[in-house]
Amino acid sequence: MTSARHYTIGEFEISVISDGEFRLDGGAVFGIIPRIMWEPVVGQENIDEHYRIPMGLNCMVVRRNNDVLVVDTGIGAKLSGIHRERTFPGEYGHLLEELHALGIERGDVTAVANTHLHADHCGWNTMHDRDGSVIPTFPNARYFVQRGEYEAATHTNERTRGTYFAENFEPVKAAGLLDLVEGETEIISGARFLPTPGHTADHASILLQSNGETGIYTGDLVHHAVQAERPVWIAAFDVLPLVTLETKKTFVERAIRERALLISVHSAFPGVGRLTEQGGKRTFVPE
Ligand SMILES: [Zn+2]
Repeated sequence: MTSARHYTIGEFEISVISDGEFRLDGGAVFGIIPRIMWEPVVGQENIDEHYRIPMGLNCMVVRRNNDVLVVDTGIGAKLSGIHRERTFPGEYGHLLEELHALGIERGDVTAVANTHLHADHCGWNTMHDRDGSVIPTFPNARYFVQRGEYEAATHTNERTRGTYFAENFEPVKAAGLLDLVEGETEIISGARFLPTPGHTADHASILLQSNGETGIYTGDLVHHAVQAERPVWIAAFDVLPLVTLETKKTFVERAIRERALLISVHSAFPGVGRLTEQGGKRTFVPE
């Protein structure tokens, strides 16, 4: 278990908490970038015998006035069998304990936003009830998802079906808690979706703006901090890698210009920092 890290963006109180950690094939995380280039960046000590590398599951809690917004909900506690052992091996399922440590219970959360609906981003959208049925984890929250992403998640193909699990979102829809939105929709005052397509066609980051300060929860626009420094380092998971490239170029310019606080899901906890540029070289500086 990790302890929460706290930040402010204008009037927003931000806490970054972790659902845990899992491991992914390093070659898949770095796409066309050869191992000889990514291995020294990741560090040999972080690569296991199957060439898997650690992936954080950093979730963001945003508090402002009476709003409690949770952005992305980790892998959760429902996986079993081959998904638990092969697809998402790791140690996770801690989000509720981490929220509790912040003084937040399930019923206190007023809004949930998912950058996309891959299984490592919406696992705690739902949970097992005592009788084994799957229920929305946050009964008093509105859940916000881009409509196109929901369409992709409910109309899978041979490539995408391994990571879209209906139990993560259909119980939310059935309970009438799901808001399907389009584009730069506001979630709570000052927090909105920022479409960042590429990883999926309707992938969206979360943009926070208050008192002239900017924060961006990147989602899977990057899987490792180095991918913010180097736009062409793109994961093999991205369904539209050339779209990712254009999205990232725009994103990087903005992040530097606005000195945005960046929160990255899969970087080592807490995955928070800013991009700086000096002499044409970009560096992700952790905070
Ligand atoms: Zn992910």
